[in-house]
Amino acid sequence: MGTQHSGRPRVVIIGGGFAGLTCARGLARAPVEVTLIDRRNHHVFQPLLYQVATAMLSPADISAPIRRVVRHQRNTSVVLGEVHEIDPERRVVVSDAGEIAYDILVLGAGARPVYFGHDEWAKCAPGLKTVEDALEIRREFLLAFERAETARDEDERRRELTFVIVGAGPTGVELAGAMIEIAREVVPRDFRNIDTRSARVVLIEAGDRVLPGFPARNSEHADRDLRRMGVELRLASPVTEIDERGVAIEDERIEAGNVIWAAGVEPSPLTRDLGTPLDDRGRVEVEPDLSVPGHPEIFAVGDLARVVDSATGEEVPGMAPGAMQMGRHIARLIVREARSSAGSRRPFEYRDKGTLATIGRGRAVATVWGRAFSGWPAWLVWALVHVFYLIGFRNRFMVMLEWAWAYVTYKRGARLITGEDSADEGVGWEWGRSPRQ
Ligand SMILES: Cc1cc2nc3c(=O)[nH]c(=O)nc-3n(C[C@H](O)[C@H](O)[C@H](O)COP(=O)(O)OP(=O)(O)OC[C@H]3O[C@@H](n4cnc5c(N)ncnc54)[C@H](O)[C@@H]3O)c2cc1C
Repeated sequence: MGTQHSGRPRVVIIGGGFAGLTCARGLARAPVEVTLIDRRNHHVFQPLLYQVATAMLSPADISAPIRRVVRHQRNTSVVLGEVHEIDPERRVVVSDAGEIAYDILVLGAGARPVYFGHDEWAKCAPGLKTVEDALEIRREFLLAFERAETARDEDERRRELTFVIVGAGPTGVELAGAMIEIAREVVPRDFRNIDTRSARVVLIEAGDRVLPGFPARNSEHADRDLRRMGVELRLASPVTEIDERGVAIEDERIEAGNVIWAAGVEPSPLTRDLGTPLDDRGRVEVEPDLSVPGHPEIFAVGDLARVVDSATGEEVPGMAPGAMQMGRHIARLIVREARSSAGSRRPFEYRDKGTLATIGRGRAVATVWGRAFSGWPAWLVWALVHVFYLIGFRNRFMVMLEWAWAYVTYKRGARLITGEDSADEGVGWEWGRSPRQ
């Protein structure tokens, strides 16, 4: 692919996620030519993906077309394409849209679910990373109730109404809380042959507490809330087998129609092309300014980088605020160097804004400025922060409307079973499609 060369530095950004998109926006008025490439045409607000997976929100509520986000930036082109390789010697990235030359490269391709040596589990226990994943989980979740309704024997009905989530980090906790609420509060009156309130939601965690990355007080609160809501917790229980009919934890077997993987992610494989040291999780060990060792013209940001906060010496957690701050840091650095090449680079400093996770209606845990709290106050902070960071007025408005509606009526707006091959809300709407037997 030929790139226009205006004489200004060519900045190529791989990934329109939290890090890449923030970097691109920070370069809006910089004297550089920006190319932003992503395999999808939209940015996804991943913290709310679980609400698409559990039929609260629609994909369009939490996504924004990348072209639209940067439409006012005259210096920015968007390329829809998958990057297959980075060639640091020739300074090109190889994508299915062709080769793209760069002077400065920002690698923000994020992470993907990892099954710790059991890739075969992926087909029985999908991970949650993209809108397509969320729609597939939603489809299987809703179909489970349909299948239970027409099941011929009790064992089969029980199995269909058992939902297992592996991994009790924020995503696992949020999914478990939402699923038990739906089964107990939202759908009971929709079915005639089954009591959906008898559904089991089992949350399995290899570590000894839920929300392992959170302060202990938050974990205790979440543990108590989940149990009160009816979620079964299995702590210190590494999963040893997953197949189409359920999971095993050493000697215990749980027959389940639905298993979801929320246990871990690994960095994009593109990190391996850089020829630089990776940590034991495959992340790039970056310099304090976020550049790749030996390549001051390449930056690694977000989930695929191991970043140490230069102020505290602590590792920056792999979450959205860190990724956005890294994107902003690189943008400032590029602007400064494009305007005047002089001066040494400032190291990246992380501003810890706290941790948040929601568990259910009015239930959440938070730690902000070192203070751990829970319940309604935490839920309100969670809701405000998430709405604030959603890109686009329409998304913010729609999400607030959906939440308000759900809180008043206990209804979920997006309870559609959509086609297997469709990631599009409008396509594949199948009233009365007979569920898999
Ligand atoms: C389900 C879920 C819930 C989460 N909840 C929270 C939360 O509540 N709070 C929080 O702070 N963080 C949360 N996170 C973590 C947060 O989303 C990540 O830390 C953040 O997205 C990292 O940003 P990033 O820019 O590194 O990667 P991403 O945002 O993942 O973006 C990577 C982008 O790169 C693109 N890409 C990848 N490979 C290629 C390629 N080869 N070619 C072209 N494009 C490519 C992808 O399509 C994607 O758009 C959650 C994550 C998940 C999956």
